[in-house]
Amino acid sequence: MAFVIIAAVIAAGAAFWYVGARRTRARRREVDESPYHLGLDALIAGNSDGAIEHLTQAVRDNPRNVDAYVKLGNILRERGQVKQATQIHRELLVKRKLPTRVRSEIIKSLARDLASAGRWRDVLEHLATLPRAERSDPRVLTMTRDAYESAGDLDKAAQAHKELLKAGSLEGEPAPEVYRAHLGLLAFRRGDTRRAKAEFQAAVKEDPGSGLAYVYLGDIAVREEDAERAVAYWMRLISEKPDCAHLVFERLEKAYFEIGDFGRMMGIYEQLVASSPSNVMALTGLSRMLERKGAVDEALRIAREAVKHEGSTFEGHRQLIEILMRHDRYEEAAKAAETLLAGLADHREERTCPRCKAALDGYSWRCDSCRAWVNEC
Ligand SMILES: [Zn+2]
Repeated sequence: MAFVIIAAVIAAGAAFWYVGARRTRARRREVDESPYHLGLDALIAGNSDGAIEHLTQAVRDNPRNVDAYVKLGNILRERGQVKQATQIHRELLVKRKLPTRVRSEIIKSLARDLASAGRWRDVLEHLATLPRAERSDPRVLTMTRDAYESAGDLDKAAQAHKELLKAGSLEGEPAPEVYRAHLGLLAFRRGDTRRAKAEFQAAVKEDPGSGLAYVYLGDIAVREEDAERAVAYWMRLISEKPDCAHLVFERLEKAYFEIGDFGRMMGIYEQLVASSPSNVMALTGLSRMLERKGAVDEALRIAREAVKHEGSTFEGHRQLIEILMRHDRYEEAAKAAETLLAGLADHREERTCPRCKAALDGYSWRCDSCRAWVNEC
């Protein structure tokens, strides 16, 4: 008898479990196939058209689905529809009573919209309304710093960068001295030479490896009509970062020419070639000097040496052809041009940003398009 009762209890339990499980499965299926979840799936799959369609349906079905609105706005921003994105996020903030966490998410999304529109002061204003803990989140600090940077408030940008490094920075964020050098370049581009100089000097003092800063310190010295000091800065770049020496060759040639000490330049090239015989830029420089001195055959020999080591820049070939042309050796020039063209067909390289592939304009620490850090020297 006891056995029958136990069996009945087990059977009832199993039946109960079965019905319950079926209900749960049905509910789960309903959730999985709701427009909101279909929208999230499409978002993950990178199908922004599908995501917009489902999320729009989701907010139609349930106008209180704040997350669907937030995500819809984010997709629109990423598609370049910044105005619509801003409108959606702004309306969410105005109308609803929201939990703090949700409100913060909306504020961050709105800040990104405003950043896309280049409205930096508005970005800063909104980020300042976040709770303190959120404001020290590295991603928020990055946004804050970049907004100050773009608004031209360099002191606040430097402060935010320090906080960012303290907060356990995101990967790839530069050391404080490199950031200072970067700020120096921003000041330099704006014509604020005094500030630029101070930043560059501080950068090279803290880290003599901030190579590019020497380039610009020299440029500032030239503006101040102090060619000797310019040369001193550029020579420090050559001695501390020989790989970047080519950045200042042209500048040095011009400066030595003005000082009237053109022979010094030859010595610099000879020294560099002696220590790194495959330095194409130094070889072409030396070849140029030799030609100017009238030693054409020696100039050609060095240019041919450069050809052996040249990468996709074809600097050696260019030099060789130019010297041959200037000395009416057209047949040889044509031959050199032919091999150059054959090589050019499959090598076309310009300096581009490693992240967004935009062409890099001038030498800097940061890509102007996507703001990735690209310390080239
Ligand atoms: Zn980029």
